[in-house]
Amino acid sequence: MDVSGPSQQQIRPGPVGVETDSKRYAPPITIDNVKNQAALLKHLQDITKIQLQAQLIGTRMKLLPQTPYAYHFIRRYIDENNLEGHTFSLPEDKKLRAVIRGLPTDTDPSEIISELKAHNICVEECHNMTNRKTGAPMPLFIIICTKSINNRALFKIKELNNMKIVVEILRKKYGPPQCFRCQGFFHSSKYCTRAPRCVKCAGDHLTKVCTKDIKDPAKCCLCEGDHPASYLQCPKNPNNMPKKREKKQQYQTSRRNGFCLPTSTCLKRLGLKINNPSQQQ
Ligand SMILES: [Zn+2]
Ligand SMILES: [Zn+2]
Ligand SMILES: [Zn+2]
Repeated sequence: MDVSGPSQQQIRPGPVGVETDSKRYAPPITIDNVKNQAALLKHLQDITKIQLQAQLIGTRMKLLPQTPYAYHFIRRYIDENNLEGHTFSLPEDKKLRAVIRGLPTDTDPSEIISELKAHNICVEECHNMTNRKTGAPMPLFIIICTKSINNRALFKIKELNNMKIVVEILRKKYGPPQCFRCQGFFHSSKYCTRAPRCVKCAGDHLTKVCTKDIKDPAKCCLCEGDHPASYLQCPKNPNNMPKKREKKQQYQTSRRNGFCLPTSTCLKRLGLKINNPSQQQ
């Protein structure tokens, strides 16, 4: 069986008894560097007993689990088999994201977690925030926890570890959510099994174990520039990428000016149909 297959194709299994026990939404799961894509999909279908749908994006396979059951099942499979990939939280697991201001930069995040536990607040993740330009640690700590009534009391805490603090909701000014593990965007490290990449030096280790000297220049693992991967002006930050509509406009302008001879793939990517060139102008 040839399992290499062309990329960008849709694998859509036939309409065989798709499980509809739950109409609840389950987010897609992307598995990176899949060699035997068809074989893996079939295997996952066999063990979940669900006709999973998948989409190939280069060497990645994006699975649509359809039910929370399949979602958890596939995530467990990924963990047990040390596969690389990422996903998102189930809607019911959406998290509260806050920033604690005022703690010394060298505070151990695990200490913050246990201090907050004494306040009956159950924190899942705590990370020190680094300067988006220099990579230097800042007196800001990100807190991620479930949206429970107990945890919401976090915003009322005025003192921690004998230090005056201010707790704020994590705002957009900090840029789109970025993974603390692989530095990718729009997913959390809790849902990421990709190889770690350091925010400061682009090394293949977690940022918390980085030994880079503060005086050494930072290196971005996304664009190879001399800034940390969390730098807001990084050209790979989605905020700095032209939006789809802008791209379409740019394309149409350049086409009107005769700069570009479009290929059908190029057009398809922009969601345009191929018209008779004589009708253009
Ligand atoms: Zn990640
Ligand atoms: Zn590093
Ligand atoms: Zn960069």
